[in-house]
Amino acid sequence: MTPPLDRTLDVLYLHPLPLGGRQVAGGPAAAQPRYPLLPMGVVGLCNLLQARGHRVRGLNLAVEWTVEPGIDLAARLAGGSPRLVLIDLHWHEHCLGALELAQSVRESLPGAFVLLGGLTASAYAVELLALCPAVDAVVRGDAEAALPALARALEQGQSDPPDGLPNLVTRREPEPARWVAGPSHLDALDVVSLGFLDHAEAYQRLIHSHPRRPGIRPAVGARGHWLPNGRGCAWDCGSCGGGRGAHRAVTGRPGLVWRDPAQVAADLAQLRDAGVQQVALGLDPDMAGAAHRDACLGSLGGLGLYLESFQLPSVALLDAVARGCDPDHSELAITAVSGDPAHRRRHGKAFGDGELLACLDVLRARGMSVSVFFALGLPGEDDAAFEATLALAGRLIERDRLGTQRVAALPQALDPGAPMALEPARWGLEPTDAGDLAARLARARGLADGSLHPLDPRALGYRVPGCELRDRAARWNELATQAPEAVIPVPGG
Ligand code: SF4
Repeated sequence: MTPPLDRTLDVLYLHPLPLGGRQVAGGPAAAQPRYPLLPMGVVGLCNLLQARGHRVRGLNLAVEWTVEPGIDLAARLAGGSPRLVLIDLHWHEHCLGALELAQSVRESLPGAFVLLGGLTASAYAVELLALCPAVDAVVRGDAEAALPALARALEQGQSDPPDGLPNLVTRREPEPARWVAGPSHLDALDVVSLGFLDHAEAYQRLIHSHPRRPGIRPAVGARGHWLPNGRGCAWDCGSCGGGRGAHRAVTGRPGLVWRDPAQVAADLAQLRDAGVQQVALGLDPDMAGAAHRDACLGSLGGLGLYLESFQLPSVALLDAVARGCDPDHSELAITAVSGDPAHRRRHGKAFGDGELLACLDVLRARGMSVSVFFALGLPGEDDAAFEATLALAGRLIERDRLGTQRVAALPQALDPGAPMALEPARWGLEPTDAGDLAARLARARGLADGSLHPLDPRALGYRVPGCELRDRAARWNELATQAPEAVIPVPGG
């Protein structure tokens, strides 16, 4: 049961459901809620506000629906009087849910200042303010400079933010000065404590990756924690709005920023002491260079590690994981994109089949679990490329004699600011709508009310000539029927 808000609360943080209330209306809460993960910056920001003396409480609606199906959010909100309400809009999948949430906060807490932030909110900051009167301001890019100053001003009784807060986009000030966090700003944050978050342990149980381990029952009570080790990306994959170019354009970040490995090590020790079994690092340590990577991974001390490799993991990284991590709580994730190496390279993953197979052999030799992801229906995926994907997936399954591997194929919606979204003709796709916030909200409403199938090109925002996504999903799902332990089916396929 979620207790109501109390009157001494200063700041309320809310993580939305992707499709808002309609996602769960009329039915039981999803047993496995979608997108429960908090954006990486949230924990540091909430703890920063607490360190400045504000009383902060966080509700992750994906978790709350699991704990209390049918929770009446309006009734919960009605009891409190926070001056500031933070709603994340980091992944574009949350557009509709975040805006619906802003609206219900406005109705239940008319005196609160409603602030949105995250990469998607940053990309659509001005549009958000134009489309949603319930939103008072949007943080574009890093929030560590503006947020404490805004919270202080509101607590002192001001109803509007002070002028000149960097990155704070308001109707009065749509082009604020840019501010980009540096290493010292990241190192000053507490990115571990979840004291502000309701049902924090239930949340941590949901975000453990539960690697495939033969003969070992899934550790349902095991807890995970996503730990930021830096910000940015070194790559520019076609469908991703979190790459190097998007960071530069949307947040002003010129390159990668890394935390001090000693701080990361201290956080790992704290998480280990708190009984967390699996830590997921936000950025691929191979991007940081050998010294930084080895210092961070050398501090794992028996924790499990979940790691999304942005290319292929180096042997040095795999050795460090094998030496320092609990294998039953560790998992590598590799994005292979396609069975066609040329198609794979075009979409940002610079390795051939031989290198992938050799890497998986190294993983297996060290007893590690791995998930390999393919993308379905990206531009350039002709019939031959798709057949190559099925063939490569089949080969991976055959070679996995230990039963420690999973393969998945996912259709890719376009992130705002992704290279494919910016230059559709060059990539060979046909947009099905304008790709702006209004179009994304229309797509989400179609998905929420069932009028749009998730594999309809209009749900993804683009069509690739000659690609029938539902047929490809059905073919993939035949593979999943043959090897249900190893192959994750395409949802809706
Ligand atoms: S998908 Fe590519 S561009 Fe996006 S975060 Fe991963 S490596 Fe970077």
